[in-house]
Amino acid sequence: MSALLEAWADADGAARARRLFAATFGAEPTGVWAAPGRVNIVGEHTDYNDGLCLPIALPHRTFVALRPRPDRTVRLVSAQEPGVREVDLDTLGPAGTAGEVAGWPAYAAGVAWALEREGLAAAGSVPGFDAAVDSCVPAGAGLSSSAALECAVAVALDDVAGLRLGGDDAGRARLADACVRAENEVAGAPTGGMDQAAALRAQAGHALLLDCRDGAVRQVPLDLAAAGLTLLVIDTRAPHRLVDGQYGRRRRVCEDAAGALGVPSLRSAADAVESGQTTPGAVLALLDDDEQRKRVRHVVSEIGRVRSLVARLAQHPGAQLEGSALDTVASGLDASHESLRRDYEVSCPELDLAVETARAHGARGARMTGGGFGGSAIALVDSGDARHVAAAVDRAFAEAHFDAPAFLSAIPAAPAGPVRA
Ligand code: ADP
Ligand code: MG
Repeated sequence: MSALLEAWADADGAARARRLFAATFGAEPTGVWAAPGRVNIVGEHTDYNDGLCLPIALPHRTFVALRPRPDRTVRLVSAQEPGVREVDLDTLGPAGTAGEVAGWPAYAAGVAWALEREGLAAAGSVPGFDAAVDSCVPAGAGLSSSAALECAVAVALDDVAGLRLGGDDAGRARLADACVRAENEVAGAPTGGMDQAAALRAQAGHALLLDCRDGAVRQVPLDLAAAGLTLLVIDTRAPHRLVDGQYGRRRRVCEDAAGALGVPSLRSAADAVESGQTTPGAVLALLDDDEQRKRVRHVVSEIGRVRSLVARLAQHPGAQLEGSALDTVASGLDASHESLRRDYEVSCPELDLAVETARAHGARGARMTGGGFGGSAIALVDSGDARHVAAAVDRAFAEAHFDAPAFLSAIPAAPAGPVRA
């Protein structure tokens, strides 16, 4: 079967990035910085509804060796992409304008552009730079390799340009805003703020409770290793389907439903249910459109699931995550998948098969994670069972004539920062 994709040790990732830097630019970098990919434990399609989500930083990281330049040129090389690319920071602009940059350099150089636009650069501008990138975060698997790249560049520029934002959570929130802006405006990819918040603001041994209404975060203890558990991440490698417009349509239906309910966002409906002012049934009874009812049922119940999972984890941190507490967390994952499949209708045959097979072979709970229509699923498994569950999913995919999936095993890891190796 496919092996579990191992996370690189910091020393290994840093050495790879340094070697690529030296081979390409014929000099030593000033340093190496890294940022993680992420998976969301629960809270899917809640971000644009001002809701709650609960991502963790993966142990899999993107490494960037970087050295500032005396001019405004950015030269970029990546072990995952061909060639050396050059961007001029004085002409770089948003996607769809004359300054547009094609392809992956938009994510890296876009961060410099966004730091300046956000007014975060000390002297009004950041220097040009040479950078070499290498990564063990699978790209395009819904594990946010794009944010890992942006956030690694952001912490690197924070250091070399003396922005002093990386030292506390408030500063990291501002770096995250710049990375979101780089992805939205320069790369032209719509994204909420979850990926960048996880990469910059999560902590090892914790999940990050992110309130998408105001960007507030809370560290929620999730010491899976102490509990003898791990998250098996299953990259389904499902072929890209014709799902254009589905994301936009979900957003629109949610906005319309909030309008019909007379609230600013569906978060308000979830809060009213949470505080006992109303019930889910009473909320749904106010809507006469069937599509709206299904989407609202998912969003309101999903925000509730984030809350109840967080409450459980707060009571049962570390090794105490066992017995009925573990059952509650696991069944929350299962319920989230069912809700995304039935009510939000964003799953696909590969995700359903991954989740069902993992459960049938001993996973405590499992769900699709990310936007859906492909990408990855997660299964909460006893640490010793990860390979066995992965092998079962691999077999099931072969029998269904699906492309072979890829696997990695994850516990909540550290956020972006310098690599001291
Ligand atoms: P995801 O973030 O889920 O992995 P995206 O489509 O958002 O998928 O981002 C993937 C894109 O990010 C890649 O196509 C590439 O442009 C860029 N990218 C990510 N990692 C790297 C890397 N190591 N080197 C160069 N580009 C990268
Ligand atoms: Mg992405």
